[in-house]
Amino acid sequence: MKTALITGASRGIGKATAELFAENGYAVIINYNKSEKEALSLVSEIRGKGGTAMAIKADVSSETEVSEMMKKISENFSSIDVLINNAGISLQKMLTETSIEEWDNIFGITARGTFLVTKSVLPMMINKKSGSIINISSIWGNVGASCEVAYSSAKASLIGFTKALAKEVGPSGIRVNCLCPGVIDTDMNKMHSEETLACLCDETPLMRIGSPSEVAETILFLASEKSSFITGQVFSVDGGMTV
Ligand code: NAP
Repeated sequence: MKTALITGASRGIGKATAELFAENGYAVIINYNKSEKEALSLVSEIRGKGGTAMAIKADVSSETEVSEMMKKISENFSSIDVLINNAGISLQKMLTETSIEEWDNIFGITARGTFLVTKSVLPMMINKKSGSIINISSIWGNVGASCEVAYSSAKASLIGFTKALAKEVGPSGIRVNCLCPGVIDTDMNKMHSEETLACLCDETPLMRIGSPSEVAETILFLASEKSSFITGQVFSVDGGMTV
């Protein structure tokens, strides 16, 4: 049985990914930070359907917590085959109103978190000479969003991270790809009014927002052998919004 570690899997895209991976025979490690109830209920749901799942709390921006998470993983799983760096937060503010703390926090979770978790998982993958890493960026990391400079910059860092790491670990049989979701129906977009969501749909060729499961299906493809010759790539799952 292959094992997938999904960061930020208590809600939204990460949760849908954990459900889909479990349905497809993966043992899933559900990392969460604050939403313990949701993470434990997801574990019960997956186990109830005969799947293998474990929830582990860790703030991905904390070196200590990531290290404790890896210790728990090594006690319970022989290796990690797939890593999905999905944990993230949003920030809608003009640059002039963004505080240093907010800037550091979003980079802490997005860039530092991805660095810390990937660095911890890589030795296992290098040892096996196989693995797939999928980094969840955003269309805004690709094209930039007004009033989301911190978010766009942090997400853009994952694109560089993906391309460089793909070159570095390709000879070790490890693939690294990046996914840029468009507007997806999760808590992250709950603050938008009906009017704003309607405008976002109007800007999307497919005339709707996406579902977490549509992102999860692409992640599953990038984790699987079906994408065995694909690495260092950036894919948009955005209904055509950034075409
Ligand atoms: P969401 O519903 O708000 O869920 C965010 C997840 O990230 C939660 O499970 C949360 O866990 C976790 N998380 C946040 N900070 C964390 C930390 N410090 N350590 C560990 N986990 C942490 O958001 P989503 O829409 O599913 O977003 C998932 C990813 O997709 C994010 O990286 C986001 O930027 C990206 N994305 C989303 C959209 C969209 O439209 N929804 C578009 C483009 C990209 P806890 O609740 O347990 O803290």
